[in-house]
Amino acid sequence: MKKPVVATASLAGCFGCHMSLLDIDERILDLIELVDFNKSPITDIKSFTGKCDIGLIEGGCCLDENVHVLKDFRKHCRILISVGECAIMGGLPAMRNGIPVQECLEEAYISGPSVKDSNPERIIPNDKELPVLLDRVYPCHEVVKMDYFLPGCPPDADLIWNALTALLENREIDLPYEVFKFD
Ligand code: SF4
Repeated sequence: MKKPVVATASLAGCFGCHMSLLDIDERILDLIELVDFNKSPITDIKSFTGKCDIGLIEGGCCLDENVHVLKDFRKHCRILISVGECAIMGGLPAMRNGIPVQECLEEAYISGPSVKDSNPERIIPNDKELPVLLDRVYPCHEVVKMDYFLPGCPPDADLIWNALTALLENREIDLPYEVFKFD
């Protein structure tokens, strides 16, 4: 019988949510029995090879390229999940929201405290091959419809495992109050 297909992507994220997925430890062997992976940095498959059942998205949209990847996932995935605070709210990268893009670039490449050593010529990169910074960081649901949200930074490995297995077994995802509490 054909296994359900899972794909994952990291947009403006730190790969911590992918690490949390790997933190399901030995259950990764069960997961490989349960599903096939399509496009994902875990498998290093770069392009979709067909439709997917579940897409896991880490990170929000900081670059035009992130928007392109996210829309491509929406097109290919039946169920799309925002995994972690960056995907759900923009996370740390969204701290730049409210500051004009040009000001961010000047701080990073011209006037910031570490620029003297890292960029002595004080040039803001502008090669046309580079992805373009968006005016702010957008959470995924502001770009495409997202079906589920798994909170946390990163979400606990057990939460990711429970959500995945619930979806694979057509059960409701259990999100107990405790997983929303960070105090
Ligand atoms: Fe990294 Fe946390 Fe963002 Fe996940 S939610 S990508 S762990 S910063």
